[in-house]
Amino acid sequence: MVTAVVGVDLGGTNVRATVLNRAGELLAPVVQHPSRAQEGFKITLEQIVLTVREAIEASGVAPAVIGMAVPGHIDSSRGVVRWAPNFGEMRGEIFEVWREVPLGDAVQARLQLPVVMGNDANLAALGEYYFGVGRGQARGLVMLTLGTGIGGGVVLTRHQVQGNAHWEGGVLLVGLGGGAGELGHTVVNFAGPRCGCGARGCIEAYARRDTIVELAREEARRNPDSLLNTLTADDPSKITPALVSHAAEQGDPTAIAIWHEVGVYLGVAVANLINIFNPEIVAIGGQIAKAGAPLFDAIHKTVRDYALPTLLQDCRIVPAERLEDAGVLGGAALAWQAAEARR
Ligand SMILES: [Zn+2]
Repeated sequence: MVTAVVGVDLGGTNVRATVLNRAGELLAPVVQHPSRAQEGFKITLEQIVLTVREAIEASGVAPAVIGMAVPGHIDSSRGVVRWAPNFGEMRGEIFEVWREVPLGDAVQARLQLPVVMGNDANLAALGEYYFGVGRGQARGLVMLTLGTGIGGGVVLTRHQVQGNAHWEGGVLLVGLGGGAGELGHTVVNFAGPRCGCGARGCIEAYARRDTIVELAREEARRNPDSLLNTLTADDPSKITPALVSHAAEQGDPTAIAIWHEVGVYLGVAVANLINIFNPEIVAIGGQIAKAGAPLFDAIHKTVRDYALPTLLQDCRIVPAERLEDAGVLGGAALAWQAAEARR
């Protein structure tokens, strides 16, 4: 009987791994090493192998499957990274990013364990479905992860499809070739600011970390007497999202207004997602979800204006519960699905 799997979160800075049981409980602390993402595939592969070996050793058990969360366009059926802009190496003057890298087979060959993998934001949603607010039984969950960029994931259940679908639990929408679930590029204003993807007015352009920080700096300069500005000792370059939250908790109108503005745009995006997927849960993940009531009040208020009422009635919009280690948990959730399918 399978008692444990490995969850791996491969990031542009670090690779993290641990061993988890079926309830999503960590059987040992997370092991972390630099991923050396800019030094080429072979070196990054060795960093992954090292991290997973140490994680297995620390847990004292023999896991059955490795599940890996990778930032990029992942073809999970082939275990291939189709494109990952954070990884690569210098060839002459040019940084060549990973394209069509057979990462799954490479890790499998080195560690002699089956490997499954997926996009990190997609898998964060799957992890949250099984080990967080979804409890493994919500009738559908859509998640937005707010951070440097905005990632997303859609977990569908048999309650949301019509026809001969008998599966239990949640399955991940990955699309043709693994590219689905790019919820951060939901357009909320077609004439809005330019997004990193080249389009205009994506929710990522409004609610990614840097945009929030820029907005907060501007507001702090414009309101020198605000608590937000006072907390920076008149140096708005010190502003972080956590500082905005701290000021908002103290009732600072400037800080509350910042979360309100971000929340209105997020609310439009969430309303679109509710209208498309009719999920039981929309989870907001990432560190920015810690902003709490000032952000969520604006999301709720806006969603009421843009989502279809009967769909909204069935839906809860909540912060994700597993804000830390979302990638590791997502890898583990996928690994559990694979382990159970093999039985
Ligand atoms: Zn975009």
